[in-house]
Amino acid sequence: MPPLPAPVACSTPGVSCFGRNNYIEYIPGDLPIVISVPHGGALTPASIPDRTLGTTTTDLNTIDLGRAISAALTSRSARAPHLVIVHLRRTKLDANREIIEAAAGNADAIQAWNEYHAFIEQAMAAVQLRSGTGVYIDLHGHSHAKQRLELGYLLSASTLDGTNAQLDAPAVASASSLRLIARESPLLFSDLLRGPTSLGGFLQPDVASVPSPSIPTPGGDDYFSGGYSTSRHTATIPGLQIECNFSGVRDSANNRASFAGRFVQALALFAQTHLGLKL
Ligand SMILES: [Zn+2]
Repeated sequence: MPPLPAPVACSTPGVSCFGRNNYIEYIPGDLPIVISVPHGGALTPASIPDRTLGTTTTDLNTIDLGRAISAALTSRSARAPHLVIVHLRRTKLDANREIIEAAAGNADAIQAWNEYHAFIEQAMAAVQLRSGTGVYIDLHGHSHAKQRLELGYLLSASTLDGTNAQLDAPAVASASSLRLIARESPLLFSDLLRGPTSLGGFLQPDVASVPSPSIPTPGGDDYFSGGYSTSRHTATIPGLQIECNFSGVRDSANNRASFAGRFVQALALFAQTHLGLKL
């Protein structure tokens, strides 16, 4: 593995900085929110061969959706979240996988993968320094039949099929991407996950999501529970993977903006209720 490049000095909120060849973009923020977008890129340099193992599907319009959420947060609070974007197409790099599957041994892809996760970690460190804690969101788009957000807390559909009493067993919380909140919260873990003050609860009734009070489990439906980045980065600050449906959420600029407005209201309530953070 090549040595990591020296970290780029990059801390001015709202001003982009880039990794090598502009494959990775980091827009530093001053809110305790870190958003990463691994699967929306369009760059297909010939110098990186196409990956032959794993998934190569683009999460359409998710970069624009990440920027819309950033804009909605900024217009709400006059402060910006941290945003980290992969501009390589997923055929070239899957930054939400461990490095072997992610980069298929290509040195340029390996460097981009390292830069991406280093930028996320730089953002995490800035959030911890300024606010102590925050929320990490790994932003994706799914093409499953059910048009709703899939909130991935590193818990499988079969775990979510359990009763609230089963979810309240301490081992469930400690396996989840919300473990850092669960450790401090007086609430039952099932409430954090799918009660009225869960993120899914605050998104109701405008935005359908699972798990939430009205859809407590995906049951037998397709569902993404969270991947490599959610697992790696929620050891530092709590967070989740959000898989967005297409219609009404990321299909047009108007819908992205209106979804982003509703989403940041729910996120702000969640951050205030469980972390004491005012967005
Ligand atoms: Zn994805």
